Amino acid sequence: GKVLVSGANGFVATWVVQTFLDAGFSVRGTVRSAAKGRHLKRFFAPYGDKFELVVVPDITATGAFDEAVQGVDAIAHTASPFHLCADDPAAFSAPAVQGTIGILESARKYGRGVRRVVITSSAVAVSDMTVKEDSGALDEFHWNTAAVQAVSEKSADTGNLDKYCNSKVLAERGAWEFLDRYRTEVGWDIAVLNPPLVLGPVIHEGPSPAGLNTSTKMMFNAFFTTEGLKTSGGQWANVKDVGRAHLLAVMTELPDYVPLAAGFAWQDLLDAVPASATHYQKGFPGSITTEMWPRHMDNTRAQEVLGMEYTSMHETVEETLADYESRGWIK
Ligand code: NDP
Repeated sequence: GKVLVSGANGFVATWVVQTFLDAGFSVRGTVRSAAKGRHLKRFFAPYGDKFELVVVPDITATGAFDEAVQGVDAIAHTASPFHLCADDPAAFSAPAVQGTIGILESARKYGRGVRRVVITSSAVAVSDMTVKEDSGALDEFHWNTAAVQAVSEKSADTGNLDKYCNSKVLAERGAWEFLDRYRTEVGWDIAVLNPPLVLGPVIHEGPSPAGLNTSTKMMFNAFFTTEGLKTSGGQWANVKDVGRAHLLAVMTELPDYVPLAAGFAWQDLLDAVPASATHYQKGFPGSITTEMWPRHMDNTRAQEVLGMEYTSMHETVEETLADYESRGWIK
Protein backbone atom coordinates (compact mmCIF):
# COMPACT_ATOMS: atom_id res chain seq x y z
CA GLY A 1 0.00 0.00 0.00
CA LYS A 2 0.91 3.66 -0.29
CA VAL A 3 0.58 6.28 2.44
CA LEU A 4 0.52 10.04 2.06
CA VAL A 5 2.34 11.80 4.92
CA SER A 6 1.78 15.56 5.09
CA GLY A 7 4.51 17.77 6.55
CA ALA A 8 6.97 14.93 5.95
CA ASN A 9 10.01 16.98 6.97
CA GLY A 10 8.82 17.50 10.56
CA PHE A 11 10.35 15.82 13.62
CA VAL A 12 7.45 13.42 14.18
CA ALA A 13 6.66 12.97 10.48
CA THR A 14 10.15 11.87 9.47
CA TRP A 15 9.86 9.00 11.97
CA VAL A 16 6.35 8.29 10.69
CA VAL A 17 7.71 8.03 7.14
CA GLN A 18 10.52 5.72 8.26
CA THR A 19 8.08 3.50 10.17
CA PHE A 20 5.83 3.06 7.13
CA LEU A 21 8.78 2.40 4.82
CA ASP A 22 10.22 -0.19 7.23
CA ALA A 23 6.81 -1.88 7.34
CA GLY A 24 6.90 -2.26 3.55
CA PHE A 25 4.62 0.62 2.58
CA SER A 26 5.41 3.14 -0.11
CA VAL A 27 5.29 6.73 1.10
CA ARG A 28 4.47 9.99 -0.63
CA GLY A 29 5.50 12.88 1.58
CA THR A 30 4.41 16.50 1.23
CA VAL A 31 6.72 19.42 1.97
CA ARG A 32 6.29 23.16 1.47
CA SER A 33 9.21 23.54 -0.92
CA ALA A 34 11.69 21.42 -2.83
CA ALA A 35 14.46 22.70 -0.55
CA LYS A 36 12.63 21.28 2.49
CA GLY A 37 12.60 17.89 0.80
CA ARG A 38 16.31 17.67 0.01
CA HIS A 39 17.38 16.07 3.28
CA LEU A 40 14.49 13.58 3.08
CA LYS A 41 15.45 12.53 -0.43
CA ARG A 42 18.97 11.77 0.73
CA PHE A 43 17.90 10.18 3.99
CA PHE A 44 15.33 7.85 2.42
CA ALA A 45 17.36 7.10 -0.74
CA PRO A 46 17.98 3.51 0.44
CA TYR A 47 14.24 2.84 -0.02
CA GLY A 48 14.49 3.70 -3.73
CA ASP A 49 11.24 4.53 -5.48
CA LYS A 50 9.21 3.52 -2.43
CA PHE A 51 9.66 7.12 -1.25
CA GLU A 52 8.50 10.13 -3.24
CA LEU A 53 7.85 13.77 -2.46
CA VAL A 54 5.36 16.33 -3.67
CA VAL A 55 5.47 20.03 -2.94
CA VAL A 56 2.32 21.52 -1.42
CA PRO A 57 3.33 25.15 -0.93
CA ASP A 58 0.24 26.31 0.99
CA ILE A 59 -1.90 23.79 2.88
CA THR A 60 -4.59 26.42 3.43
CA ALA A 61 -5.19 26.89 -0.31
CA THR A 62 -8.38 25.38 -1.74
CA GLY A 63 -7.64 22.01 -3.30
CA ALA A 64 -4.05 22.03 -2.02
CA PHE A 65 -3.98 18.21 -1.61
CA ASP A 66 -6.16 17.32 -4.63
CA GLU A 67 -3.28 15.74 -6.53
CA ALA A 68 -1.37 14.44 -3.52
CA VAL A 69 -4.23 12.17 -2.36
CA GLN A 70 -4.59 10.39 -5.69
CA GLY A 71 -3.38 6.81 -5.71
CA VAL A 72 -2.79 6.46 -1.97
CA ASP A 73 -4.45 3.94 0.36
CA ALA A 74 -4.08 5.90 3.57
CA ILE A 75 -3.20 9.38 4.77
CA ALA A 76 -1.27 10.50 7.84
CA HIS A 77 -1.89 14.21 8.30
CA THR A 78 0.81 15.64 10.55
CA ALA A 79 1.43 19.11 9.08
CA SER A 80 0.46 21.79 11.59
CA PRO A 81 2.37 24.56 13.32
CA PHE A 82 3.86 23.50 16.65
CA HIS A 83 5.76 26.42 18.06
CA LEU A 84 4.93 29.17 20.49
CA CYS A 85 6.25 32.08 18.48
CA ALA A 86 3.16 33.74 16.97
CA ASP A 87 0.86 36.19 18.69
CA ASP A 88 -1.98 35.98 16.20
CA PRO A 89 -4.14 32.93 17.10
CA ALA A 90 -4.95 32.51 13.38
CA ALA A 91 -1.26 31.86 12.65
CA PHE A 92 -1.88 28.51 14.40
CA SER A 93 -5.54 27.84 13.75
CA ALA A 94 -5.71 28.70 10.03
CA PRO A 95 -3.14 26.11 8.87
CA ALA A 96 -4.27 23.62 11.55
CA VAL A 97 -7.97 23.77 10.65
CA GLN A 98 -7.85 24.55 6.95
CA GLY A 99 -5.04 22.05 6.44
CA THR A 100 -7.04 19.30 8.14
CA ILE A 101 -10.37 20.08 6.44
CA GLY A 102 -8.55 20.62 3.16
CA ILE A 103 -6.86 17.23 3.13
CA LEU A 104 -10.16 15.54 4.06
CA GLU A 105 -11.97 17.43 1.33
CA SER A 106 -9.32 16.38 -1.20
CA ALA A 107 -9.63 12.77 0.01
CA ARG A 108 -13.40 12.98 -0.36
CA LYS A 109 -13.17 14.24 -3.93
CA TYR A 110 -10.10 12.49 -5.30
CA GLY A 111 -8.95 9.85 -2.80
CA ARG A 112 -10.74 6.89 -4.33
CA GLY A 113 -8.28 4.38 -2.87
CA VAL A 114 -8.15 5.93 0.61
CA ARG A 115 -9.35 3.67 3.45
CA ARG A 116 -8.06 5.43 6.54
CA VAL A 117 -7.00 8.95 7.48
CA VAL A 118 -4.86 9.29 10.59
CA ILE A 119 -4.74 12.76 12.07
CA THR A 120 -1.92 13.78 14.37
CA SER A 121 -3.83 15.74 16.95
CA SER A 122 -2.31 16.25 20.40
CA ALA A 123 -2.78 15.62 24.08
CA VAL A 124 -3.30 19.38 24.33
CA ALA A 125 -6.56 18.93 22.41
CA VAL A 126 -7.68 16.79 25.36
CA SER A 127 -6.07 18.29 28.42
CA ASP A 128 -6.02 21.80 29.80
CA MET A 129 -2.40 22.06 30.92
CA THR A 130 -3.09 24.94 33.26
CA VAL A 131 -5.38 23.00 35.60
CA LYS A 132 -3.40 21.70 38.53
CA GLU A 133 -5.98 19.81 40.55
CA ASP A 134 -6.75 16.20 39.70
CA SER A 135 -10.22 15.84 38.29
CA GLY A 136 -9.77 12.22 37.24
CA ALA A 137 -7.89 10.72 34.35
CA LEU A 138 -8.45 12.32 30.99
CA ASP A 139 -9.13 10.14 28.02
CA GLU A 140 -9.81 10.65 24.33
CA PHE A 141 -13.35 11.85 24.98
CA HIS A 142 -12.25 14.99 26.86
CA TRP A 143 -11.67 18.31 25.17
CA ASN A 144 -9.44 21.20 26.16
CA THR A 145 -12.31 23.68 26.08
CA ALA A 146 -10.43 26.09 28.35
CA ALA A 147 -7.94 27.01 25.62
CA VAL A 148 -10.72 27.56 23.09
CA GLN A 149 -12.56 29.76 25.53
CA ALA A 150 -9.46 31.76 26.41
CA VAL A 151 -8.72 32.45 22.75
CA SER A 152 -12.30 33.27 21.81
CA GLU A 153 -12.63 35.65 24.75
CA LYS A 154 -9.29 37.22 23.82
CA SER A 155 -8.50 37.37 27.51
CA ALA A 156 -5.33 39.26 28.29
CA ASP A 157 -3.59 36.27 29.80
CA THR A 158 -4.07 34.10 26.71
CA GLY A 159 -0.59 32.84 26.06
CA ASN A 160 0.76 31.38 22.84
CA LEU A 161 0.49 27.88 24.31
CA ASP A 162 -3.28 28.40 24.53
CA LYS A 163 -3.30 29.54 20.91
CA TYR A 164 -1.50 26.35 19.86
CA CYS A 165 -3.88 24.23 22.00
CA ASN A 166 -6.87 26.05 20.50
CA SER A 167 -5.65 25.21 16.99
CA LYS A 168 -5.36 21.51 17.83
CA VAL A 169 -8.85 21.38 19.39
CA LEU A 170 -10.45 23.17 16.44
CA ALA A 171 -8.62 21.00 13.90
CA GLU A 172 -9.61 17.75 15.61
CA ARG A 173 -13.21 18.87 16.07
CA GLY A 174 -13.31 19.93 12.44
CA ALA A 175 -12.13 16.48 11.38
CA TRP A 176 -14.83 14.65 13.36
CA GLU A 177 -17.50 17.03 12.09
CA PHE A 178 -16.33 16.47 8.52
CA LEU A 179 -16.55 12.71 8.98
CA ASP A 180 -20.05 12.99 10.49
CA ARG A 181 -21.21 14.98 7.49
CA TYR A 182 -19.73 12.74 4.80
CA ARG A 183 -19.54 9.33 6.51
CA THR A 184 -21.91 7.62 4.07
CA GLU A 185 -20.23 9.17 1.06
CA VAL A 186 -16.55 8.48 1.71
CA GLY A 187 -14.78 5.13 1.67
CA TRP A 188 -12.59 5.90 4.66
CA ASP A 189 -12.73 6.61 8.35
CA ILE A 190 -10.58 8.64 10.67
CA ALA A 191 -8.23 7.72 13.49
CA VAL A 192 -7.01 10.51 15.70
CA LEU A 193 -3.82 10.28 17.74
CA ASN A 194 -3.41 12.51 20.77
CA PRO A 195 0.31 12.26 21.57
CA PRO A 196 1.70 14.13 24.55
CA LEU A 197 5.14 15.77 24.42
CA VAL A 198 7.16 13.73 21.93
CA LEU A 199 10.79 13.10 22.83
CA GLY A 200 13.71 11.20 21.37
CA PRO A 201 16.42 11.30 18.72
CA VAL A 202 16.02 13.36 15.57
CA ILE A 203 16.25 12.13 11.99
CA HIS A 204 14.68 15.16 10.33
CA GLU A 205 16.88 17.97 9.13
CA GLY A 206 18.36 19.08 12.45
CA PRO A 207 21.21 21.44 11.76
CA SER A 208 21.94 22.44 15.35
CA PRO A 209 20.39 22.34 18.82
CA ALA A 210 18.93 25.78 18.06
CA GLY A 211 17.21 24.37 14.98
CA LEU A 212 15.42 21.58 16.84
CA ASN A 213 11.63 21.43 16.89
CA THR A 214 9.73 22.62 19.95
CA SER A 215 9.60 19.37 21.96
CA THR A 216 13.16 18.17 21.34
CA LYS A 217 14.49 21.65 22.05
CA MET A 218 12.80 21.45 25.45
CA MET A 219 14.42 18.05 25.94
CA PHE A 220 17.87 19.30 24.93
CA ASN A 221 17.56 22.28 27.27
CA ALA A 222 16.50 20.09 30.19
CA PHE A 223 19.93 18.49 30.23
CA PHE A 224 21.65 21.84 30.68
CA THR A 225 19.42 24.32 32.47
CA THR A 226 17.69 24.05 35.81
CA GLU A 227 15.30 26.84 34.86
CA GLY A 228 11.75 25.61 35.38
CA LEU A 229 13.01 22.13 36.13
CA LYS A 230 11.36 21.84 39.52
CA THR A 231 7.98 22.97 38.34
CA SER A 232 7.49 21.37 34.99
CA GLY A 233 6.72 18.01 33.56
CA GLY A 234 3.66 16.37 32.14
CA GLN A 235 3.05 13.54 29.74
CA TRP A 236 5.48 12.20 27.15
CA ALA A 237 5.98 9.52 24.53
CA ASN A 238 8.99 8.31 22.55
CA VAL A 239 8.97 9.52 18.94
CA LYS A 240 9.46 6.00 17.57
CA ASP A 241 6.41 4.83 19.52
CA VAL A 242 4.44 7.75 18.07
CA GLY A 243 5.65 6.73 14.62
CA ARG A 244 4.48 3.16 15.26
CA ALA A 245 1.11 4.45 16.51
CA HIS A 246 0.55 6.03 13.07
CA LEU A 247 1.27 2.68 11.42
CA LEU A 248 -0.98 0.77 13.83
CA ALA A 249 -3.75 3.33 13.37
CA VAL A 250 -3.65 2.70 9.62
CA MET A 251 -3.65 -1.06 10.02
CA THR A 252 -6.09 -1.57 12.90
CA GLU A 253 -9.84 -1.77 12.44
CA LEU A 254 -11.83 1.06 13.93
CA PRO A 255 -9.58 2.87 16.36
CA ASP A 256 -11.39 5.93 17.55
CA TYR A 257 -9.42 8.56 19.42
CA VAL A 258 -6.13 7.22 20.66
CA PRO A 259 -4.00 9.04 23.19
CA LEU A 260 -0.47 8.05 24.08
CA ALA A 261 0.71 8.99 27.51
CA ALA A 262 3.03 8.46 30.38
CA GLY A 263 3.69 10.96 33.12
CA PHE A 264 7.11 12.51 33.48
CA ALA A 265 9.05 15.13 35.35
CA TRP A 266 12.00 16.69 33.54
CA GLN A 267 14.04 15.36 36.45
CA ASP A 268 13.23 11.83 35.22
CA LEU A 269 15.35 12.54 32.14
CA LEU A 270 18.26 13.60 34.27
CA ASP A 271 17.88 10.57 36.53
CA ALA A 272 18.19 8.41 33.41
CA VAL A 273 21.53 9.93 32.34
CA PRO A 274 24.32 7.38 32.90
CA ALA A 275 26.63 8.32 35.77
CA SER A 276 29.59 8.26 33.38
CA ALA A 277 28.12 11.10 31.28
CA THR A 278 29.41 14.15 33.04
CA HIS A 279 28.36 16.78 30.47
CA TYR A 280 24.83 16.97 31.79
CA GLN A 281 23.41 18.55 34.91
CA LYS A 282 22.10 16.38 37.72
CA GLY A 283 19.12 18.59 38.55
CA PHE A 284 17.44 17.93 41.88
CA PRO A 285 17.57 14.14 42.31
CA GLY A 286 14.87 12.69 44.53
CA SER A 287 13.00 15.95 45.04
CA ILE A 288 10.61 15.91 42.11
CA THR A 289 7.95 13.37 41.22
CA THR A 290 5.25 13.11 38.62
CA GLU A 291 2.75 13.30 41.50
CA MET A 292 3.38 17.02 41.31
CA TRP A 293 1.42 17.01 38.03
CA PRO A 294 -1.89 15.60 39.09
CA ARG A 295 -3.50 15.55 35.67
CA HIS A 296 -3.30 12.02 34.43
CA MET A 297 -4.09 10.68 31.02
CA ASP A 298 -5.62 7.30 30.49
CA ASN A 299 -3.91 5.43 27.65
CA THR A 300 -5.94 2.23 28.00
CA ARG A 301 -7.52 2.44 24.55
CA ALA A 302 -4.15 2.85 22.87
CA GLN A 303 -2.95 -0.28 24.63
CA GLU A 304 -6.09 -2.31 24.12
CA VAL A 305 -7.11 -1.22 20.62
CA LEU A 306 -3.73 -0.53 19.05
CA GLY A 307 -1.57 -2.82 21.18
CA MET A 308 0.76 0.07 21.94
CA GLU A 309 3.81 -0.57 24.06
CA TYR A 310 6.03 2.23 25.28
CA THR A 311 9.78 2.71 25.30
CA SER A 312 11.16 3.56 28.74
CA MET A 313 12.51 6.96 29.67
CA HIS A 314 15.84 5.28 30.33
CA GLU A 315 16.15 3.93 26.79
CA THR A 316 14.84 7.17 25.30
CA VAL A 317 17.44 9.25 27.11
CA GLU A 318 20.21 6.84 26.19
CA GLU A 319 19.42 6.88 22.47
CA THR A 320 18.89 10.64 22.46
CA LEU A 321 22.24 11.37 24.12
CA ALA A 322 23.92 8.99 21.65
CA ASP A 323 22.25 11.00 18.88
CA TYR A 324 23.55 14.32 20.29
CA GLU A 325 27.02 12.88 20.58
CA SER A 326 27.04 11.48 17.04
CA ARG A 327 26.12 14.96 15.79
CA GLY A 328 29.02 16.50 17.67
CA TRP A 329 26.67 18.60 19.82
CA ILE A 330 28.21 17.26 23.02
CA LYS A 331 31.96 16.98 23.19
P1 NDP B 1 7.75 20.14 13.50
O1 NDP B 1 7.81 21.59 13.72
O2 NDP B 1 9.00 19.36 13.52
O3 NDP B 1 6.98 19.82 12.13
C1 NDP B 1 5.82 20.48 11.78
C2 NDP B 1 5.45 20.12 10.36
O4 NDP B 1 4.26 20.85 10.00
C3 NDP B 1 6.53 20.55 9.36
O5 NDP B 1 6.49 19.72 8.24
C4 NDP B 1 6.06 21.95 9.00
O6 NDP B 1 6.51 22.39 7.74
C5 NDP B 1 4.57 21.75 8.97
N1 NDP B 1 3.93 23.05 9.18
C6 NDP B 1 4.04 23.85 10.25
N2 NDP B 1 3.36 25.00 10.05
C7 NDP B 1 2.82 24.91 8.80
C8 NDP B 1 2.03 25.78 8.01
N3 NDP B 1 1.64 26.97 8.46
N4 NDP B 1 1.69 25.37 6.78
C9 NDP B 1 2.08 24.17 6.32
N5 NDP B 1 2.84 23.31 7.02
C10 NDP B 1 3.19 23.68 8.25
O7 NDP B 1 6.73 19.61 14.60
P2 NDP B 1 6.40 18.16 15.17
O8 NDP B 1 6.97 17.11 14.34
O9 NDP B 1 6.70 18.20 16.60
O10 NDP B 1 4.81 18.14 15.01
C11 NDP B 1 4.16 17.40 14.00
C12 NDP B 1 2.71 17.21 14.39
O11 NDP B 1 2.65 16.52 15.64
C13 NDP B 1 1.93 18.52 14.58
O12 NDP B 1 0.61 18.30 14.12
C14 NDP B 1 1.93 18.68 16.10
O13 NDP B 1 0.84 19.45 16.54
C15 NDP B 1 1.83 17.24 16.54
N6 NDP B 1 2.29 17.00 17.89
C16 NDP B 1 3.61 17.16 18.22
C17 NDP B 1 4.02 16.91 19.52
C18 NDP B 1 5.45 17.07 19.94
O14 NDP B 1 5.72 17.03 21.15
N7 NDP B 1 6.39 17.20 19.03
C19 NDP B 1 3.06 16.51 20.56
C20 NDP B 1 1.71 16.33 20.08
C21 NDP B 1 1.36 16.57 18.82
P3 NDP B 1 7.71 23.47 7.63
O15 NDP B 1 8.96 22.73 8.00
O16 NDP B 1 7.67 23.85 6.20
O17 NDP B 1 7.39 24.59 8.56
